[in-house]
Amino acid sequence: MTRWNWNWDERPGADSPAPDTPQGSATAQSAPTATVGGLEDAGSRQPPDAGQGGPQRGFAHRQLIRRRRAGGLLALLAILVAPIVVVAYGASGGAHRRLSKTASASSGSDGRTDGTGRAPAQSPAALARAEEGAINHVLSYTPAVVAGGRKGNEVALTFDDGPGPYTQALVAKLDSLHVHATFFAIGEMERYFSAGTQAELRSGDAVEDHTETHPMLTSLSRREQREQLFEQIVRVEVLGVPRPRLWRPPYGAFNATTLAQARTLHLLMVLWSADTADYTVPGVHAIVERALAGAHPGAIILMHDGGGNRSDTIAALPAIVAGLRKRGLHPVTVPQLMLDDPPPPGEPLPSNLSGD
Ligand SMILES: [Zn+2]
Repeated sequence: MTRWNWNWDERPGADSPAPDTPQGSATAQSAPTATVGGLEDAGSRQPPDAGQGGPQRGFAHRQLIRRRRAGGLLALLAILVAPIVVVAYGASGGAHRRLSKTASASSGSDGRTDGTGRAPAQSPAALARAEEGAINHVLSYTPAVVAGGRKGNEVALTFDDGPGPYTQALVAKLDSLHVHATFFAIGEMERYFSAGTQAELRSGDAVEDHTETHPMLTSLSRREQREQLFEQIVRVEVLGVPRPRLWRPPYGAFNATTLAQARTLHLLMVLWSADTADYTVPGVHAIVERALAGAHPGAIILMHDGGGNRSDTIAALPAIVAGLRKRGLHPVTVPQLMLDDPPPPGEPLPSNLSGD
């Protein structure tokens, strides 16, 4: 707990931009940050515990210290797992089988369904292959998505920055609502809260890549960026998580180098179309309102299961899910959204990719 709190306090900010929030300017030019179209860059964000001055200052140094700490074990894990990954995964990126959300639900007898009316006859392996193929297909025409298409009736609830002390309770709440979600997990958090990730796995949620230590990727070298993406993959694969095929950049910050590295790892970047800004702890009502305000077919809704007190986020889930269902929208994982209602080809990339 202490370690976790320290870890958060040292972080430069939450990764969700706040489009509707007055901008802070202190760190506006802190990084050559690429941004999501219509959204704002990390420079406009304030950490949940903002007020400690100069959050960017010394960040690189802290990252170095963190990296050293993470070093030994992770290096060993990488050595052990990397060859397996390479062999099993192959160049096509399609060989790995993702665990099925519905399969996990049924095998776990937890009563969760995907709520989409998908034919139950579809085998877990077939669904996993279909999702895998869908992600490969989307990757064939874009390195990044902010939402699905608008042809279906699905939305994706996504949770960043875990696992943390609230993750298991959040997963239990999702279980009770029969909802599957997508978790963009931070690798180093697995050292303390891997039980949360394992709960996600048991419940059939998607566990994806949110880097190893949640850095501002645009401030890192190509090698460091690759390590950030790959070390998280190693971490979660050791826990039994299917190899992540999706990733989300901390602070929404990325550059051309980031995308090139993600591509070699067969990772599709998943941004978001609606931000609850739950990291600001705005209260249950505000979280519900923001989630539902951004709800439309294909929406990808950003929330957090780590990085601070997530009690309000958990408490908001029943009303969010009820509100979605009232509109005929079904919450699903991002892999399932990519399968059922992918974004159409030809959409513009998130802006400012030419930054560097
Ligand atoms: Zn984050």
